[in-house]
Amino acid sequence: MSEAALNAMAQQYLDLTLCKSRYDDIDIQWYTEGPFWRRTSMRFSRDYKILPDYEIADAKHGKTLEDILDESAHLTESLKLYAKTAKPQEKQRIDYLIDHVVALHTRARMLLGETMPFDEMTQKLYDLVAPVYDYTRFDRILEALNQALPGSGSVQDKIYEFRRRISIPQDKLLAVMTDTTKAFHDMSMARMTLTGNSMPRVRVRRLPDPGMAFLSILFGYDYNHLEYERNFNLDYPWTVDNVIECIGHEMEPGHLTYYEKRMQTYIDTCWPEMAVVQQFSSSSAFTEGSARYVISMCFDHSVEKKTQFEKNVIFGVAGLDKGLAELMPLWHEYCEIAGYGKLEVTRKIWDKIWTEEEAAAFLKQYAIIGKEAPASIVNHLAGDEGHFVAHDYARDVVKEYFDSVTSSVDEQWKLYEKICCGHMSMSGMLNKTYRP
Ligand SMILES: [Zn+2]
Repeated sequence: MSEAALNAMAQQYLDLTLCKSRYDDIDIQWYTEGPFWRRTSMRFSRDYKILPDYEIADAKHGKTLEDILDESAHLTESLKLYAKTAKPQEKQRIDYLIDHVVALHTRARMLLGETMPFDEMTQKLYDLVAPVYDYTRFDRILEALNQALPGSGSVQDKIYEFRRRISIPQDKLLAVMTDTTKAFHDMSMARMTLTGNSMPRVRVRRLPDPGMAFLSILFGYDYNHLEYERNFNLDYPWTVDNVIECIGHEMEPGHLTYYEKRMQTYIDTCWPEMAVVQQFSSSSAFTEGSARYVISMCFDHSVEKKTQFEKNVIFGVAGLDKGLAELMPLWHEYCEIAGYGKLEVTRKIWDKIWTEEEAAAFLKQYAIIGKEAPASIVNHLAGDEGHFVAHDYARDVVKEYFDSVTSSVDEQWKLYEKICCGHMSMSGMLNKTYRP
């Protein structure tokens, strides 16, 4: 069969995905509608997040969830049939499409009320199953923090106090966010082939929901430019570590760079599947995992370089006690392990192994949530199912893959750029067989 037949199947996948967003409002992370797009009216909210960042109008209408379920099942079969006589160079693209159509189908099942075990859910949505975590790591990091952190009292109290002392004062937030955004923009420019026109405008404002870290407004895009405005919430509890995470991960060289590359790839190839990044898919697991790992690449994986950056750019501008900066490597290690704590909690709640109270007690034991937090908070650790598998575990899959197939950080940057433009495979990265 011809490439036109495969393109038609890819277009069907795209149409079904857009239609599903009517029932699944956070599913579309990025969508390229055409070669360019401009916001032409000021009728949008600066208070509430709308995903995608612009209205896709009738593209999301015309199919029920049952239609999407049926059509995605047939589409998977058609793709498998096509694969039987496909050219070898089409294999990666077909695997990618099957992977994403299976995710779409699974998500439709979930939206229709079907339940399934946690690991099956993450396997079908993200092409990943997180292995059981080594729980002794939670106790070991707690002991290390108890030894290292200043103050007296319980280790949990020391953690809460440290978190308070590395919090960014509200009146310094704009300067911290602006300087950090510029620094990550420059690091991305130095290592990748980018247009350089996509550094977002940074604003700070008070958003109605204190749990919302930021609100993004897309003003337009074309091949050479993403025009984004990022509004960071003054009322969000910003600490040094989540400033780094948020800027490097959400913007450049993380998600915004990925969206820029995807948009360009779509325009270059006309492959319909490149137009969209679904939240509940392996593309999302790749962008989430790599957006975390790429922060480490910015500092050549050097803990010293990252700490120096935090000390000079964030502690300095925020007016925090620079003497605490030397504790940041241990703190980052704690944050990574805490992410796995949340993964374990969401898995055990989903599979009904732990009650809300048991899960909350576990998180309080490691000071991952506040000591006064209600038990029901465990149900709101993330807005998206399998979040910590698609973020924390995906980061470690990306890390191991990059470490095993490259021999220098420069090669890793080239690899990252290539995968952003290609048909990635999370299971292929996990078993190290994937080659872009
Ligand atoms: Zn993200």
